Amino acid sequence: MMYARGHPEDYNYWAKFTGDNRWTYENVLPYFKKSENFECVDELDAETSKYHAKNGPLTVRYADYKGLAHHILKAAKEFQYPTIDYNTEFPQGFAVIQNTFQNNGFRMGTFQAFLKPIRNTRPNLTIHKFSLVHKVLFEEGTNKVIGVEYSRHGKVKIAYAKKEVILSAGAINSPKILMLSGIGPKEHLESLNIDVKLDSPGVGKNLQDHIGTFIGPFIMNDTVSYHPDRDLTLSMFLDFWLRGKGVLNTVGSDASGFVSSSRAVELGEKHWPDIQIITTGYAVSDSLEKGFEKAFNFKPNVLQKYYDKAKGKDSFHLVPILNRPVTRGEILLKSTDPAEHPLIDPKYFNDESDLKTFAESIRLSVNFIENSKTFQALDARLIDTPFPGCEKHKLRTDAYYECYARHFSQTIWHYSGTCAMGKEGSKDAVLNSQLEVIGVENLRVMDASVMPTVVSANTNAACIMIGELGADLVKQKHEKSKVNENVKIDREEL
Ligand SMILES: Cc1cc2nc3c(=O)[nH]c(=O)nc-3n(C[C@H](O)[C@H](O)[C@H](O)COP(=O)(O)OP(=O)(O)OC[C@H]3O[C@@H](n4cnc5c(N)ncnc54)[C@H](O)[C@@H]3O)c2cc1C
Repeated sequence: MMYARGHPEDYNYWAKFTGDNRWTYENVLPYFKKSENFECVDELDAETSKYHAKNGPLTVRYADYKGLAHHILKAAKEFQYPTIDYNTEFPQGFAVIQNTFQNNGFRMGTFQAFLKPIRNTRPNLTIHKFSLVHKVLFEEGTNKVIGVEYSRHGKVKIAYAKKEVILSAGAINSPKILMLSGIGPKEHLESLNIDVKLDSPGVGKNLQDHIGTFIGPFIMNDTVSYHPDRDLTLSMFLDFWLRGKGVLNTVGSDASGFVSSSRAVELGEKHWPDIQIITTGYAVSDSLEKGFEKAFNFKPNVLQKYYDKAKGKDSFHLVPILNRPVTRGEILLKSTDPAEHPLIDPKYFNDESDLKTFAESIRLSVNFIENSKTFQALDARLIDTPFPGCEKHKLRTDAYYECYARHFSQTIWHYSGTCAMGKEGSKDAVLNSQLEVIGVENLRVMDASVMPTVVSANTNAACIMIGELGADLVKQKHEKSKVNENVKIDREEL
């Protein structure tokens, strides 16, 4: 997975928003370092060790296959964008992507890094796979949380908590569980006949996501892109399976730029980039449109029409992403059935300036390729087929880019903010700055939903940091308190 922590200003803003300096960049940085095993360099020098560490369980390294990264960094310099490490206090710039990989070259997620190594060794850890949490349970007549109700293999069960319950079901499901427990916006809960335990208007609100698009394909008269139909060989599979190396050791993206839009500049935030541009150096293969069709829910044949002329040629895409959206969406319950997915309404582009800024990010991406000597030397140019539905607009105009954004943009899967922490007493704060649900006892949330504003980069690293910092908050609270050994814990053989 791409490893990007976000900009220092993201965290300084959280600290200001919550009134708690625990969340400043300076104070969260040790928690990023705690989990990291940074292998992008052999040795950490004094400057690098300010930001990176070697001993954590999460391995961060460059992919073996770097695709077009070299060309991208060269072109970036033409536009005065320096080569940066975007996991430091970075300005606008471009970088080869840092990723979380296992030693065998496969992706390293939180399971491989944190859970797998200890899952059979900790007497105080019980994992119930195949379980669906329905709701949290309260001590009769109080706002004290005592456990959760969940179902497993068709049976409804209860797990009681010795100290507290921590929800980490993600930005879609943590608010869902809270609402099913009677914690949420009163009118919405009443409309579903849920007993309101706590009117907490912010639950499910403040949904943020990064929206992105694939702009391209940029066609080239050179064989520098990776063309799966042409280049994929058996030896590449062997290289990967046996050594974890080669073209298949990649997350599919080579380089990433962080740049500031005119909106950020107007707000005096030029130093806090709000646009990310990820580059993907693989060409349009025969199967690309089918993959995109499925992943992004396109109507049949739309992409076939668009990509037809690119087939068989060297090409690539850029992926501009709106990293600091103004728009806020929401999560609502569809029903009281815990197995039913909630309603997710991201309301992308509800704020007009989001659309304008996103269209600007597409324009920037096209200019970056077409106006750089590096890519001109490869004869790289945007395909001249207009995107279906946008034919009436002239290519390379703002109107065309806005149309492109409306027709071909998708989630970057960075949902967050739906149980946001904030100042106690503020109407929309769901959690206090110690991640405790305001208004009830013994209940915390630790996942992407706690972010007041989504970080301006990929969200996984920030979620891990939230877990690390949250774990310390729990330890600090309970260090001196005695565990009530009399409570029941529902344990069973796995
Ligand atoms: C396709 C994709 C690609 C991504 N790529 C990257 C990337 O390259 N880099 C990056 O930084 N970020 C990436 N992200 C984003 C990143 O994965 C998320 O931001 C991060 O995982 C969020 O962590 P979380 O703890 O909030 O939620 P999650 O990781 O979603 O964890 C929530 C967990 O709770 C479980 N759960 C939910 N409801 C219940 C319930 N009722 N009962 C029991 N269990 C429940 C879920 O099964 C899940 O295991 C990607 C996301 C997706 C979907």
